[in-house]
Amino acid sequence: MATCLFCSLIANPKPGMFLHDDADVVAFRDIHPQAPTHILVLPRKHFPDLTAMEADTALIAKMYAAAIKLAKLEKITDGFRTVINVGAKGGQTVFHVHLHVMG
Ligand code: 5GP
Ligand code: ZN
Repeated sequence: MATCLFCSLIANPKPGMFLHDDADVVAFRDIHPQAPTHILVLPRKHFPDLTAMEADTALIAKMYAAAIKLAKLEKITDGFRTVINVGAKGGQTVFHVHLHVMG
């Protein structure tokens, strides 16, 4: 998916950009934060949206595990939100599935 913004960012990360980085999942800060901490957690593999991950629930779990780890690192466990927008009508603007972590 050469035309996918997030695939491009994953393929060519800026130094220090990843807050979390493993074989399956990466995380980086949202360019337009909606909260003091606003991190995006996403699979390295391209899925256009959450509905494409129906058969990959282990990967969904890895995304949430990374979100929990990052919430602890960012010290926002006293109050944060996790959001996955699905589809244009659901507010999704980048069509590489991602979990917002906002606290
Ligand atoms: P969505 O609306 O699809 O759920 O969320 C997309 C998010 O990606 C938005 O919050 C937007 O600010 C963020 N975003 C868009 N382009 C970039 C970018 O180039 N870099 C980063 N770090 N975030 C981006
Ligand atoms: Zn992608």
